[in-house]
Parts: sequence; C-alpha cells; structure tokens
Amino acid sequence: MKKMIVMLLTASMLMALAGCGSSAPAAAPAPAAEEKKEEAAAPAAEAKEADDDEDDDADFTTVTDGVLTMATNAYFPPYEYYEGGNIVGIDADIAAAIAEKLGLELHIEDMEFDSIITAVQAGKADMGLAGMTVTEERKQNVNFSESYATGVQVVIVTEDSDIQSIDDLADKQIGVQLATTGDIYCTDDFGEDHVEQFNKGNDAVMALKTGKVDAVVIDNEPAKSYVAATDGLKILDTEYVVEEYAAAINKDNTALLDAIDDALEDLKEDGTLDAIISKYISTEK
Ligand code: GLN
Repeated sequence: MKKMIVMLLTASMLMALAGCGSSAPAAAPAPAAEEKKEEAAAPAAEAKEADDDEDDDADFTTVTDGVLTMATNAYFPPYEYYEGGNIVGIDADIAAAIAEKLGLELHIEDMEFDSIITAVQAGKADMGLAGMTVTEERKQNVNFSESYATGVQVVIVTEDSDIQSIDDLADKQIGVQLATTGDIYCTDDFGEDHVEQFNKGNDAVMALKTGKVDAVVIDNEPAKSYVAATDGLKILDTEYVVEEYAAAINKDNTALLDAIDDALEDLKEDGTLDAIISKYISTEK
C-alpha cells in the first residue's frame, strides 16, 4: 500500500514538474484475482500410482505394531474436533473404520496442521487424515489415498461487509489457517501482505468477528460450523476453489497405501462412508 502511495506521489510530482497539473493520474487497475491456481507438474510422482498389487495387502507395516496412528489437527469440525476429551468427526470415524478393516487399533495424534505431513514423512504417523486437500506440492512429500470427500474453499465475512465476491478481497486483510490451501491460494492471489495466518481456523474467525481481518478463507464445512456458532457472520455464495480430500501416507509405505485404498473402496461400496458423512453433515443446504 505504501508503495502505491509513493508511486502516485512520484507520478503527480512528475506531472507537476512537466506542467500538466490539472488531470490526476489514473489509478492503477486492481490486480486481477483470477490467476490460475498453481498446479506445478510433478511427473515423477505419477508413475507410482499405477502400482495396485492386490497381493501386497497383507505386507504393510505400521509405526507401532497392531496400531494405525493417525495424525490430525483436531480443530476442523465436522472432520475432527474434540467432544469432551475425545477426538471425533468424519475423519476420526473413517479412520476407525479403516483400522477395523485392517485389523488395527486406531490411535489419533493431535498436532498443528503444518506438522502432519512431516510426521508422516518422519515415520511418526501412518496416515495424515485431516480434511487434507490433495495438492501437487504435497504429493512431492507424501502419497495420497483415493479421495474420500470434496472440500470447497469459501469466504466468511461479517453480515454487513461490502465484500461480495472473490475479487472484492483485493486490498482487504484475509485471515487463514496457517499452511492450508486457503493460505496458499490467498497468498498467491492477493499477496502475503494481505494474508494473516492463524494456527487454528477458529482463531481466524475470531479475528474477523473482532474486526482484525475483513474476511476468512477456509473450507466450507468448518466455515458452516464456525458461522453457526458465531453471530453476525455469513458465508459468501461463491466457491473460491473446489478440492479433494485424501489420506496422506509415507511414500515408502506403498503397501499401506494399497491397503488403505482397498479399505476405502470397501467403505464406499458398502455405504459406510456415506453413512459417516451424513452423520456429521446435513444434506439440506
Ligand atoms: N483442506 C485444507 C488443506 O488441506 C484445510 C485442512 C485443515 O485445515 N485441516 O489445506
């Protein structure tokens, strides 16, 4: 912003010097927000996806024998959140169903969203399950299972906000959850000076409520929960980015990836997945 003012001043000073005082310099057009989302090609990662060897299923290993360790960030309702001392939600239920299919006991580790991929890479967790969007960049570091749900990045604003569309976010302050796709897209589209990162989605929403940011970009289902729990906020009727959620698994553990994919396939076919999702998400909009 400062840069812009300096530029305008410089321009008007030049014009004054040149003796053409009357007409003000035209404002620079607002930067367009519709740059294509970064989808960096990752040719090396693709080849692995073909390996679908049914015989491997029994060969997978887990970090702790007999246990499926899931890494998540339990502040992302209705996918994962605390109910009393327990982590519950769509991902917790799906993980429990996968663990049961694989004959494992489920153990859930709560951590910052930012640490999940590292935990999976470092062999501290078997599976990141956290409403995590499949991106080309993350695919450099982990393998993703088949997708089990769709997510949409949406915009939350105050009820009296003048923001009506994604383009109106230019020059505003946008709250996001650190290292999420909302953070990545907003930083790309609007610049890091316009993005404020919070550790938890709810912290971003509280900053909106108290006027510290003008909007929050976050996944649609947590957005609905936050807005339902907070007076004076609304979700814009616009889809910023549509995404796929999947489980993140260590690149070396392709046997576990296959086993989880098989389990997910079964859970899709026998209706368990739908039942879990509709337990937490009402179909009426
Ligand atoms: N879907 C978003 C992402 O993967 C947010 C996930 C989350 O905050 N748990 O970046």
